[in-house]
Amino acid sequence: MGIETSAQARKWKVEDLIDKDNNIWKGSVIRQRFEWRDAKDILAMDLPRCPTSDFVYWKHNSKGKYTVKSGYEVLLERRSMGEDKMEEGALESLKIIWRSNILPKWKVFIWRITYDALAVNYNLKRRGIDIDSQCDYCGFEEEDSHHIFRTCSVARLAWTLYQPQVQTDDDEPMSVVKWVQRNIRLFYSKDEVDNKKLEEFVIMLWSLWVTRNGRVFRNIGGHVASVLFQAKEAMKCLQTFKNRSLVEAEDKDPSCPPGFHFVNLGENKHLYTNFVLQVDGSWEKETKRAGWGWAYKDGRNRNNVGVAHNIANKCRKEGLMFSNRI
Ligand SMILES: [Zn+2]
Repeated sequence: MGIETSAQARKWKVEDLIDKDNNIWKGSVIRQRFEWRDAKDILAMDLPRCPTSDFVYWKHNSKGKYTVKSGYEVLLERRSMGEDKMEEGALESLKIIWRSNILPKWKVFIWRITYDALAVNYNLKRRGIDIDSQCDYCGFEEEDSHHIFRTCSVARLAWTLYQPQVQTDDDEPMSVVKWVQRNIRLFYSKDEVDNKKLEEFVIMLWSLWVTRNGRVFRNIGGHVASVLFQAKEAMKCLQTFKNRSLVEAEDKDPSCPPGFHFVNLGENKHLYTNFVLQVDGSWEKETKRAGWGWAYKDGRNRNNVGVAHNIANKCRKEGLMFSNRI
């Protein structure tokens, strides 16, 4: 789908693409709305001989109805046929990240960059959320991951001033995903236990992201000094994480779920004694409304619960304000 945005495309119906008088496809409309290859596939389809209303049809089971089971089977089949196999370089870089001794949340963060799944303005707009997709720092470009981590003026300056220096070839014309993956492979060394360069690279990506979130949601700073400060803090977190005691992990308390003690926030534990937080939320595509709820219990037996529902954008802000308070 090319020329028109996905928000407009959601309103399209198949019948808009058919010239009913002559029972043929409207070739020029289809070519204008779809990529060349998709247009070719659509135009190659036979049209029904008599007029029929649109209906939703799932072609992967005999009843034409989607089920999770049939969806899962299709995915498995694709995987076995290698259709959605990752490129070798991409896979290798993710394997490096999974086995690194860094905070689990950073691993997930890198994984989200790899799948372009960060909630940057461009991605939110693409999913139909009504927001301004420009970067609110420089205002020069649309805010996508490539912009946040490479081309925004604050990112360029941060990479230059960051000590120790990480050489990132920041003018190399490639997607941010490829660039991140390539640098991960470049900075990884099999011979080093700690892979310092790789850690520093991940820390700078993380710091740019955290600083951007502080600027967007809490209106704080967002300049290069904040990025460098975040990088220092992240390095401290990493040291705390590496010095963690693994003894607890073996102490199997049946009241805790498996893996409970493996969670490590990179902070000293005494601040978080018996702290339990549960959060869940969802949003609806059609109305763009969202809701979420949370409950937490801390070591002093203070219990607290809360909910919020609003249009998705505002709800997201309320969620972040809450996480800032606790
Ligand atoms: Zn910018």
